[in-house]
Amino acid sequence: MMSQSQSTPPSVDSAPRGMNADPKEIDKFSELAHRWWDPNSEFKPLHDLNPLRLGWIDGIASLSGKDVVDIGCGGGILAESMARLGARVRGIDLSTKALRVADLHSLESGVAVTYEEIAAEALAARMPASVDVVTCMEMLEHVPDPGSIVQACATLVRPGGYVFFSTINRNLKAYLLAIVGAEYVLNMLPRGTHDYEKFITPSEMARFARNAGLDLIEMRGMTYNPLSQVYALSRDTDVNYMMAFRKAA
Ligand code: SAH
Repeated sequence: MMSQSQSTPPSVDSAPRGMNADPKEIDKFSELAHRWWDPNSEFKPLHDLNPLRLGWIDGIASLSGKDVVDIGCGGGILAESMARLGARVRGIDLSTKALRVADLHSLESGVAVTYEEIAAEALAARMPASVDVVTCMEMLEHVPDPGSIVQACATLVRPGGYVFFSTINRNLKAYLLAIVGAEYVLNMLPRGTHDYEKFITPSEMARFARNAGLDLIEMRGMTYNPLSQVYALSRDTDVNYMMAFRKAA
């Protein structure tokens, strides 16, 4: 007799069962992946944010010459920009299509990045305490168990190394700006891009990190001005924010 697992058809997406990944989330990004590097596409916010987060990360971790892993790299906007500053970057994701786009772009631009389709937890098990810097931006709010990703990032980084996260805070203002404003009023993002319940407060993030042996060193908000259509770093962490952590030496 066939067992249950043999009779179930294989999943069509790139996130096998048992992985800390939501197949619907991966599919969402895969469907849009061909537009990843179009600065006026659904990914415009990532393009607009990138110089801000890159400068902030580089100011803390001095990327040149460092080994970096970018978790949930998508089409490679941040990964490639860190490589441009002289880091050796490995980008991982579970969207096959996003990684294909990332690879093609790296070939075209001539900025070398190593891309790999692997879960954060699996990479951490394969190469623990091996990199100087881990980045994981705009990704935790799309996974079932963000604490497990934070733990994987902490495992990957060497003692004394840095880990950077960005995500969206969870409160009324974040709901109004990141979902109602961005998806329904300004049409900056496709409807359904974000799920309010999956937003993460800074204290939840700090707890995940503390449990993983990471010390908080800095936090920044990123605010969007809809009139000037410009993002800025700020002390306002009510909606989009980033946190920098260091693993004890
Ligand atoms: N970090 C990139 C892309 C953010 S978009 C940037 O900020 O520019 C979110 C990315 O997370 C997508 O590429 C999506 O495929 C990826 N993702 C979602 N769930 C994931 C998971 N469980 N493991 C790895 N990547 C995931």
